[in-house]
Amino acid sequence: MSQISDARYANATSAQVEEDIVIEPAGDGWERVRHVRVAIVGAGFSGLGMAIKLKQAGLDDFVVLERGDDVGGTWRDNTYPGAACDVPSHLYSFSFAPNPHWSRTYSPQREIRDYLRRAADRFGVRPHIRFGHEVCDASWDEATQQWRITTAQGPFAARVLVLGNGPLAEPSIPAIPGLDRFAGTLFHSARWDHGHDLTGERVAVIGTGASAIQFVPQIAPSVGRLALFQRTPPWIVPRLDRPISGRRRTLFRAAPIAQRAQRTAIYWQRELGALALVYRPPMMKAAEKIARAHLEAQVADPALRAKLTPSYTMGCKRILLSDDFYPALTRDNVEVVTDHIREVRAQSIVTEDGIERPIDTIILATGFHVTDNPIYQRVHGRDGRALTDAWREGPSAYLGAAVAGFPNLFIMIGPNTGLGHTSMVFMIESQLAYILDCLRVMDRRGLGAVDVRPDAQDAYNDELQRRMRRTVWASGCASWYLAANGRNTTLWPGFTWEYRLRTRRFDPANYDMIPKTAPINKRRLSSYGVGSQSGACYDA
Ligand SMILES: Cc1cc2nc3c(=O)[nH]c(=O)nc-3n(C[C@H](O)[C@H](O)[C@H](O)COP(=O)(O)OP(=O)(O)OC[C@H]3O[C@@H](n4cnc5c(N)ncnc54)[C@H](O)[C@@H]3O)c2cc1C
Repeated sequence: MSQISDARYANATSAQVEEDIVIEPAGDGWERVRHVRVAIVGAGFSGLGMAIKLKQAGLDDFVVLERGDDVGGTWRDNTYPGAACDVPSHLYSFSFAPNPHWSRTYSPQREIRDYLRRAADRFGVRPHIRFGHEVCDASWDEATQQWRITTAQGPFAARVLVLGNGPLAEPSIPAIPGLDRFAGTLFHSARWDHGHDLTGERVAVIGTGASAIQFVPQIAPSVGRLALFQRTPPWIVPRLDRPISGRRRTLFRAAPIAQRAQRTAIYWQRELGALALVYRPPMMKAAEKIARAHLEAQVADPALRAKLTPSYTMGCKRILLSDDFYPALTRDNVEVVTDHIREVRAQSIVTEDGIERPIDTIILATGFHVTDNPIYQRVHGRDGRALTDAWREGPSAYLGAAVAGFPNLFIMIGPNTGLGHTSMVFMIESQLAYILDCLRVMDRRGLGAVDVRPDAQDAYNDELQRRMRRTVWASGCASWYLAANGRNTTLWPGFTWEYRLRTRRFDPANYDMIPKTAPINKRRLSSYGVGSQSGACYDA
């Protein structure tokens, strides 16, 4: 007997929503498996957006599995000083939840986190969220047409799995010899150690990406010395961040149409960026002039200016916005180090030129596992194949969301949906519409599963890679946009409205549409390794 009870059950401790709990055999005993129609991983913009859209569509049978203890994702984790968005807040927010209260053009982390907290409450999705539930494994079960999901706090089964685990959620720790032997304080910018006081310390910052340029100006005045280890200088343009006046906020509150107009204006202004990045890379020369003038205006020392002048076409790596990064680098207590790090010792860093700098604290601003996110090893489709197996040539998906051989799986902002010029929330909302429409089609046709056809996925990716060739990202720089084999598997090579049009409706012609083959809840789980666990995942 595979199932001894199938009662409706109201779980009053972690949620006030009704759940199917099925008692199923596992190993030598039994375990409680929560069955839902949709399981969502992550409670950032993607996961919350999906949850809200399901709720609005009248579907309550879903759960959000979040490893952290709060919603917000990126905006819960990145609490470093100066953390803020670099796309104007009026666009970097849900279109269905405008916020007239944004305080600045580029709102600080706390405001964005609070916005997401409020969205979770306002749309009533919090009862669906299970905090502390890291997803350790998700395996497709062909017989029951379900995803069998192991979390750090027990198993779940879901017809549809939506991965909203975030492209920039797993901090990347560089392989620098001796880093593990460093005896001082060491942390990644995405896991800022607020308990540690940097005042007067000798601090090393490794990396000059989007995070470093935000926090370096904040900490430079209070540290003793700051050594900024730079591999490649970024292109930096003026940020032009402004407070949003009280009058303007009142107007947005009273006349939402004014805020919508502002959002639309920002959207189209930003889309011009795609024109240069994707279709006309030579146009970047004009922007390079602006960035050079910015550098010249802020850095008088020719030697420092030379170190900070990029040698690749602007846009090939992410373009950064800052008004205070260069001035911070001109401070007497700040040094820009361009020699490569040879090794880290217990209390110092030694560069290739043989210079040893005593260091008290190392801050890693070294980015994230983007194309090699660890969750890709944990998701197993047909025949037990992991996403990493399917992606030996680099991540690839249909519309950045569906992968052949992984039925009923949707990856939010998956391969080739990243952007160099505008709001990721726009892409997220495009995908939400697509997934929702897929669920409707499945309902209407009584389907058990949909699986994108390999030929559709290949044709789509061939097209993207063809288009990629003429973009600025193919102009010859190394960047985190590229997978190990050099393919750009991260960015969307087009205007975002084109992606919106392509994802407006689910397109059955590109999928194998599989009828329901078995009633759910009828299979032993023990063969899927879903014995109950507690604590973190086995490979975390
Ligand atoms: C510092 C910073 C600034 C940024 N600024 C901008 C910006 O200005 N504009 C822009 O468009 N984009 C920006 N981004 C990109 C940003 O990541 C996206 O815009 C967006 O926040 C992604 O939302 P998400 O929900 O997909 O992922 P995330 O916000 O990363 O959320 C993912 C969630 O999934 C959870 N999770 C991951 N793995 C598991 C697991 N195995 N089990 C359970 N839970 C899991 C995580 O804990 C997290 O809560 C920025 C990113 C960073 C890091």
